Amino acid sequence: MMDTKYVFITGGVVSSLGKGIISASLGKLLQARGFKVTIQKFDPYINIDPGTLNPYEHGECYVTADGMETDLDLGHYERFTGIRTSRHNSITTGRIYKTVIDRERRGDYLGKTIQVVPHITDEIKRRMLREDEKDESLDFVITEVGGTIGDIESAPFMEAIRQLRRQLGRDAVCVHLTYVPYLKAADELKTKPTQHSVKELQGMGIQPDIVVLRTERHLDDSLRMKVASFCNVDLECVVQSEDMPSIYEVPVSMQRQGLDAAIMRKIGIPVGETPAMKSWHEFLAKQSGATRKMKIALVGKYDLQDAYKSIRESLNLAGTFNDVKVNINFVNSEGITKENVSDLLSGMAGVVICPGFGQRGIEGKIVAAEYARTHDKPCFGICLGMQMMVIEFARDVLGLPDADSCEMNPDTQHNVIDIMEDQKNITQMGGTMRLGEYSCLIRPGSRTFYAYGGKEFIRERHRHRYEFNNRYREAFERAGMQCVGVNPDSDLVEIVEIPSLRWYVGTQFHPEYSSTVLNPHPLFISFIKACLYGTS
Ligand code: GLN
Repeated sequence: MMDTKYVFITGGVVSSLGKGIISASLGKLLQARGFKVTIQKFDPYINIDPGTLNPYEHGECYVTADGMETDLDLGHYERFTGIRTSRHNSITTGRIYKTVIDRERRGDYLGKTIQVVPHITDEIKRRMLREDEKDESLDFVITEVGGTIGDIESAPFMEAIRQLRRQLGRDAVCVHLTYVPYLKAADELKTKPTQHSVKELQGMGIQPDIVVLRTERHLDDSLRMKVASFCNVDLECVVQSEDMPSIYEVPVSMQRQGLDAAIMRKIGIPVGETPAMKSWHEFLAKQSGATRKMKIALVGKYDLQDAYKSIRESLNLAGTFNDVKVNINFVNSEGITKENVSDLLSGMAGVVICPGFGQRGIEGKIVAAEYARTHDKPCFGICLGMQMMVIEFARDVLGLPDADSCEMNPDTQHNVIDIMEDQKNITQMGGTMRLGEYSCLIRPGSRTFYAYGGKEFIRERHRHRYEFNNRYREAFERAGMQCVGVNPDSDLVEIVEIPSLRWYVGTQFHPEYSSTVLNPHPLFISFIKACLYGTS
């Protein structure tokens, strides 16, 4: 068995270059070579985790099976590689400082002055080496550092990488991702920002082994040669990441250019044959070969691509599985009214009602749920989306016009969505929801049961404080909305469905977090099938 190897991925010039996709792609390629891999993200902001961040700030909050609220890049890692990440795969400056400060308060430092170097950098190194979750069987740990080189706040992370590099020798490789802009007026691609970015990194004592150039146009060899010579790297270690029609083509492009092979050569591992990645290629062929098209409405309040990242990807992946190209139409729930709902949703094959928090936009979600129910349009409600399906049903079918969630209206008479008992005394907002995987028993014979391929027992990830109020369970069931998924320990309702409709399912959990490229989530597959054929 070989010692664990460490790959560090940093970014320069601008943010949003797709470091997460490159990290996930590299993970995939190393896995395809038979290595056991994990990927972790270090974010330089001071929040303990992104759980309290508005999606406008940071996109979706991704939840790991063990209940950590994390950066959305972990979603890419899981979708590309199928590995299950944990709380140890997502670290922020806030968590690093908190650990060090807690230790200082306990008196562990025995009177020493606590400083960024060495105390903060030592804690960063400890976590980069995964000392809290030692797994000797890991061949590769890929560490992505958020932010852009030169940021004041990422400096301690760079110092930690510099030190680790010295300590680990050939067992550490540094990959730096930069941007090569195209200047239209000059009709030229410019490498100067890359040169500056690498210089900045070198100034911090880190010589990158590999430079990945993000570009909207193909870079020819002379340009790559220029980067190699100015940045002190081998030509074969200058890789380009061109715009691709799909992010899932990035691993193939990286493999074609030998990114994984270059890393292995740096470390000194025999490269061997290039893996065929058959199932990945089959997926890509299916994705580009899909000729049928389908429109799905995504009803939510955040008009921002990244806000519902995992749901969007889950829909696309389930579409590919069903040989259909899914066109996702974002419909802002704040603008949905009884008057315009038909215009907005009638042309859609199906409707997804998104998760969320707070009052803004919920009435529109309720109108969308009603439209889908009364027009028998396949509809998938996730978390808050499921809660809105329940409220709509209570108002319209059970005849309780003031039915509501305690989250929106704490004084309502008919709190069909109530705060969970163990949430009542919670005052701290961060990391205190019902988070992570919980069990669910599915009623045999239900639509959901068949969607899961006849499984009675499942585990899914959660992120909520409110729940279906069991006092109303019987009334709902009698009127036709069935509680077909229930947690066996707490009796919390996890899944509702209306069996008389083609596909009308709401889940308190988030199936989108566990959908992967090679294993799209069964509920999304079933939903898309229903949108295609009527019933699944
Ligand atoms: N706001 C709701 C709750 O806390 C739903 C949360 C969500 O959609 N993730 O229960």
